[in-house]
Amino acid sequence: MPFGVCKIGSVVRLEEMAMKIRKKTTKTYHCGVCKTGYPTPQEAENCEKYPVEQRVANIGDYVRISEKRECLMADPKIDPYYVAEGVITGFSPPLPFDMEYELKWLGGKRERLNSHVHLYYVRYTCPRCNEEREQSVFALEFTILKSKEKTASE
Ligand SMILES: [Zn+2]
Ligand SMILES: [Zn+2]
Repeated sequence: MPFGVCKIGSVVRLEEMAMKIRKKTTKTYHCGVCKTGYPTPQEAENCEKYPVEQRVANIGDYVRISEKRECLMADPKIDPYYVAEGVITGFSPPLPFDMEYELKWLGGKRERLNSHVHLYYVRYTCPRCNEEREQSVFALEFTILKSKEKTASE
């Protein structure tokens, strides 16, 4: 191959690389599943490859949130901590996995790491102040006490 062509070729390639680098600094690549933005297409593709956690509950299921909650409006003479029980009202879209969630609730179980996860919205009435509240929890932060029977539309 003549020396000149080779040189032109490499110059062109350098310019392409420079363009790519410039693009990298301005463009964000989004995971098609959780819409998280990443600086490189590789990272977005890697995120896309992670599975989506299967939903463990349905809208209308009656659940108990594992961690006690504190009522700030409670009578100071009574224990402000209570167990919240309520109904699932909805789910978040798939979210990128959450490190705190993984460590706290999944105990580093390999098959559960790096999955897209859902938040479950639970509506309940505070047994201390009788106010209606809504709490979002991950799948392992609640137990189902009573499943709503599935309807044909679900
Ligand atoms: Zn993702
Ligand atoms: Zn309360």
